[in-house]
Amino acid sequence: MLSPLAWIAITLTIFVALLVIKLLLDKRRKEAPVTQEEQSIMQPAVVQLSIVEQCCLQTLQQVAGAEFDVRNKVALSKLSNSDAGSNHQTLDFVLFSKKSGKPTCVIQLKSPSGDDESTMEQALEQANIALYQLPRRSSYSITDMRDLLHAHIKTPPPSPDEMLATLSMRAFRLCNKCQSQMALKRAKNGPHKGMLFWVCEGYPDVCSGVELYSE
Ligand SMILES: [Zn+2]
Repeated sequence: MLSPLAWIAITLTIFVALLVIKLLLDKRRKEAPVTQEEQSIMQPAVVQLSIVEQCCLQTLQQVAGAEFDVRNKVALSKLSNSDAGSNHQTLDFVLFSKKSGKPTCVIQLKSPSGDDESTMEQALEQANIALYQLPRRSSYSITDMRDLLHAHIKTPPPSPDEMLATLSMRAFRLCNKCQSQMALKRAKNGPHKGMLFWVCEGYPDVCSGVELYSE
């Protein structure tokens, strides 16, 4: 027969052993790399765009939002039926008419590597889709973009203030630096004039949280 003290000792040992195992398991779980699936849930597709692409997308959405769906990274093969062979190219931005659901025009940022884009040009020409090529810039003027696409856009876009008000009602964001609420604001000057940003309510005194707005 074991004495009561021995029983207490055994129970304690088991308890401590279980605790250690639990801690080890927790530690391993924390260290485990994030699976790709988890990553794709955390990061919507839009985040994978470069800053240049995000700026261009935002400008396009502001110019064409009422009439078009702006989709990014669309496979050329989805728009053209030709079997040109190298249709694996992706298009940076495609404006789809909300009314007809059909692609109307393509906005392509000039490839930094200077790839041959003649296949794409031909395929789009055959499919009767306009192609606009833009240089890569850190910002895109809303006015210039409107001029560029004026042939496609019929309804006048909402004024910048109207648009900001609509977006502010729909969207909500917490600062990832301090978890305070952020407000949607339009840059009034500087190189990003006209672009929309999330600005932390503590900015600029308490917190430096500012993020480019993306849908
Ligand atoms: Zn903040």
